[in-house]
Amino acid sequence: MKTHLLQSEARVFRALMHPARLAILEMLRGGEQCVCHMEAGLGHRQAYISQHLAVLREAGIVRDRRDGLNIFYRVVRPEVFSLLDTARVMVGGETLITIPAPPIAACPCPKCVGDEKVAC
Ligand SMILES: [Zn+2]
Repeated sequence: MKTHLLQSEARVFRALMHPARLAILEMLRGGEQCVCHMEAGLGHRQAYISQHLAVLREAGIVRDRRDGLNIFYRVVRPEVFSLLDTARVMVGGETLITIPAPPIAACPCPKCVGDEKVAC
């Protein structure tokens, strides 16, 4: 057995092992989003979102990009979505979680406000 590969696989699953991180990934399914957009869309505080984004980043699943005062995250391993899809089938969930697409009324991010220069 290639133990190191199994350990790497286990690391991927550990990174996914939280409902907040799954919700974040669902939100990133449609493409890059800024932290404040995830905050508004998921209804959690920024510190909470950032903590979970850090776990996903360390696992190499997402990557961040700073643009002015905003920090954007994107999924760099899109294979993760087939894992999410499989998990959903396993629990009998047929419908996708509906995460609001931009614009979200309470969100100050550039996509929602429609101004590229706006900071969160
Ligand atoms: Zn937004």
